[in-house]
Amino acid sequence: MSRMPSPAAAAPVRRSRPAGVKAVMAVQASAGPGNTTERIVAAITTAIVERRLMPGTKLAEQKIADIFKVSRTLVRQALNQLSRDKLVTLEPARGAFVAQPSVEEARQVFEVRQMLESAMVKRLAASITPAQVAELREHLRAEQAAVHRTDVPGRTHLLADFHVVLARMLDNEVLAEMLRDLVSRSSLISLMYQSSLSAEQSQAEHVAIVDALERRDARAATRLLMDHLQSVERNLRLNPRVADLADVLRPIETE
Ligand SMILES: [Zn+2]
Repeated sequence: MSRMPSPAAAAPVRRSRPAGVKAVMAVQASAGPGNTTERIVAAITTAIVERRLMPGTKLAEQKIADIFKVSRTLVRQALNQLSRDKLVTLEPARGAFVAQPSVEEARQVFEVRQMLESAMVKRLAASITPAQVAELREHLRAEQAAVHRTDVPGRTHLLADFHVVLARMLDNEVLAEMLRDLVSRSSLISLMYQSSLSAEQSQAEHVAIVDALERRDARAATRLLMDHLQSVERNLRLNPRVADLADVLRPIETE
């Protein structure tokens, strides 16, 4: 698994309302020192997670080079890394595009998440500290505030990041990196397959998971997390069918 920066790392101001794609990238471009390739990777990842870049969007090298004021070589490195992370597809002679994950890939991503995350919360229920519970409560409050003010990029980011926060609490960087990658790919999948799960429902499910963790109830936490991931997956339109108007007009959400 590659070293893709987390959506959280990519957005230091993740709890405020982010601006448009170009503004997000411009902020990243001017944000302090650090490896330029990684900053480009982080900006594009954040834009995907926050639904600013849709699957299939062309990522023109020269435009990105202009935004970041860097050479096309550095942009190409970033696009190569995003391609290894499966967020970008490189097409010979045509260039780079935001990836369009297949139905099979979507199923596999959610299968791996269920395996990893159920093991993860089981362990966390045994080791969680009061300080970690407090951190999770704070994260939930931020989620809820973003849901209430209908801050779509903010809530999408926070709801996805919840899973990475859980992973980080086990002090296992390999696990945290894997979760970051899987959560970013899940965001892309949700964009592709139009999840109809509401942000309110996801938020409530996160609260129930944290309640169980606080009680150190490993069985309940594991079951609630599995139920949550299943409802995220179930609410994707992985089975193509003719949409009816009610479905089409329902609010679109990710996890
Ligand atoms: Zn979730």
